[in-house]
Amino acid sequence: MKNYLIQIIEDDPSVKKLLEITFREYGFNHISCENKKNAMVMFLSHNPDLLIVDLGLSDGDGKEFIKQVREISKLPIVVLSARHDEKEIIAALDAGADDYMTKPFSVNELLARIRTNLRRNTGDENISSKILCGELEMDIASRDIFFKNEQLKLTPIEYELLKYFLLNTNKTLTHKQILKEVWGVGYQSEMQYLRTYVNTLRKKIEQNSTRPNYIKTESGIGYRFCCNN
Ligand code: CA
Repeated sequence: MKNYLIQIIEDDPSVKKLLEITFREYGFNHISCENKKNAMVMFLSHNPDLLIVDLGLSDGDGKEFIKQVREISKLPIVVLSARHDEKEIIAALDAGADDYMTKPFSVNELLARIRTNLRRNTGDENISSKILCGELEMDIASRDIFFKNEQLKLTPIEYELLKYFLLNTNKTLTHKQILKEVWGVGYQSEMQYLRTYVNTLRKKIEQNSTRPNYIKTESGIGYRFCCNN
């Protein structure tokens, strides 16, 4: 495994300490700071592989930092915040965060999310032209999607939606993000379109579309496409 460097931006000393102990134990290199201003200096000088960002910082909102980083980098960003409000979660994801966990958090779950986000960012999936997810397989070059080894018959929108999900697995995607990426700018508030197509897709790929294994609903926020390969 590559020696990953994680940058922690957290002003609560006890949470920071817990993260540092955890990362040391699991072999992740890490650096940490308490505010936005130092976070940017540290980010630019150390070029980390992943960021853990708290939102309530002494010199402002962590979302501002996320937006600044997104202008220059695509690295994975995981928000760790005490804010449980759906609007806050959506705003953080729309600002460019890849994932969001609320405090108090499970260390094991955080580590799992970190691994997933790091894996997605290694670019390995670009080397192979196939994406595998459970019983789904997408051939990027030929644009074919197979389910249980049979080609799935999809409408153009269903195809675009499933492709977007497969390229962003295990990641919370807001309604707005999905609508913008699949339907285009101007469709961000057409929630009913999204709901309708998620339902038709579920009927094609889920064993039981009322208890989905792939397309999980993140209540009030959006969807998460789950892959446990
Ligand atoms: Ca804080």
